[in-house]
Amino acid sequence: MLNDTYRHKGMRRKLVELLHEKGISDDKVLQAIDRVPRHLFLDNAFVNFAYKNQAFPIGSDQTISHPFTVAFQTQLLELKKSDKVLEIGTGSGYQCSVLVEMGVKVFSIERHRSLYMKSKKKLNELGYFPKVFFGDGYKGLPGYAPFDKIIITAAAPFIPVDLKSQLKIGGFMIIPLGESDTQEMQRLTKISETEFKTETFGDFSFVPMLQDKSFKS
Ligand code: SAH
Repeated sequence: MLNDTYRHKGMRRKLVELLHEKGISDDKVLQAIDRVPRHLFLDNAFVNFAYKNQAFPIGSDQTISHPFTVAFQTQLLELKKSDKVLEIGTGSGYQCSVLVEMGVKVFSIERHRSLYMKSKKKLNELGYFPKVFFGDGYKGLPGYAPFDKIIITAAAPFIPVDLKSQLKIGGFMIIPLGESDTQEMQRLTKISETEFKTETFGDFSFVPMLQDKSFKS
């Protein structure tokens, strides 16, 4: 059941060391990864793979991101406790729980109803209470905007206009951008209502951020 054993904790400690070696230097991010029982976000068949640096299926043709990718995107957010953060693509809920462990206020949107239901339940069972929504990430959450930080965890073909406007001035958007097999990780800083600064951080591989399709159940 929801069992986090010493064996799991030991494997997680090794994963944290690996992430550190691979360049994750923010201690708060490493501590958050150390606290979240990643194996409980995977289907039973994959539990033994939970602490390898790999992506895995979570149902509905979606994947839980690599731990390195989760750690890397989280580090790029440079979170402060008072931050209000919007995640696009709840998926398994793993990245979402890492954000909650960082002590920030988390909002997350998922377009697959079954994943939304499953992940919301799982998060709550584990004691995480982010605000999770079934909806279209391209539209964001106008009723809760503006956000200090926005993190997109699916491959975006372009920068969603609504998300740009829902970001606070001085805030960051972390976005894997591009439609081919790999996407360029970008960090946009909102300089003014119309200006953004762009920094790039190499290639990653995500499932697509889907547009304008009827919602999935
Ligand atoms: N953060 C997730 C990663 C899941 S993969 C985790 O830690 O497990 C990306 C997720 O984005 C998938 O669940 C997919 O259904 C969702 N997604 C794709 N397009 C979307 C959209 N337009 N709005 C919201 N979610 C979307």
